[in-house]
Amino acid sequence: MKSVRGCTNQECDSYKENVHYKKDFDYCPKCGSQLMAVCRSRSCHTFLDNPDGIYCARCLAKRKDSADHAKKNITAIGGGLLVAGSFVAKNSKTIISVAAKAIKFLPK
Ligand SMILES: [Zn+2]
Ligand SMILES: [Zn+2]
Repeated sequence: MKSVRGCTNQECDSYKENVHYKKDFDYCPKCGSQLMAVCRSRSCHTFLDNPDGIYCARCLAKRKDSADHAKKNITAIGGGLLVAGSFVAKNSKTIISVAAKAIKFLPK
């Protein structure tokens, strides 16, 4: 998958129609404006900071979403467990320290 470029001139038809040019084009053949790496998604018109970038962060996330939805769900569950686990660990630590303090006040 190669990155594509788009016209940066908002007045230009290339820009309006979201025409994508090959990476070896540096300037728009219609208006002569400099081309910039643009998100490859048809409906998206986000210019990319990275000249080798193919999709913008949003579309990348969207594509990843549909590509490995199941995988993502598993990761989300795993992450949730991890958070829950650390929460419990944190709490039990508090409980232990509270208990330790309480023990000090217990009559011997
Ligand atoms: Zn143009
Ligand atoms: Zn995009």
